[in-house]
Amino acid sequence: MTVDKIEKSDAEWKKLLTKKQYEISTRKGTEAPGSCPFTEVHEPGMFRCVRCGNGLFRSSAKFESGTGWPSYYEPISPLNIIEQADNSLGMVRTEVLCARCNSHLGHVFDDGPLPTGKRYCMNGFALKFVPEDQL
Ligand SMILES: [Zn+2]
Repeated sequence: MTVDKIEKSDAEWKKLLTKKQYEISTRKGTEAPGSCPFTEVHEPGMFRCVRCGNGLFRSSAKFESGTGWPSYYEPISPLNIIEQADNSLGMVRTEVLCARCNSHLGHVFDDGPLPTGKRYCMNGFALKFVPEDQL
């Protein structure tokens, strides 16, 4: 399985996205906790990249972390995301990006639940939910 790359300039993304989606996905912003547009979504389905539609997380891997950000214990496939060191803001964190379009999604931490122990702490505005029957 390969993931085809999508490359667009900042200006192109700006035209295609809402202000909030652009700030988070392209400028590596962070949404305010609790502002995620799909906090109440628990039905079966898939969370896709808001920029390119790449499948990122299943709702079965979503859990309530209490942080105010949508959290998952594993991605659909490690091939669909990129994890890279992020030493900004004086912290050592691991940034998570979309493998297809390089969109900033959020960060991953090692304090998640079993079976992986990972907590993918995402920005809801970087994702879009697609219910199972529309996949
Ligand atoms: Zn993407």
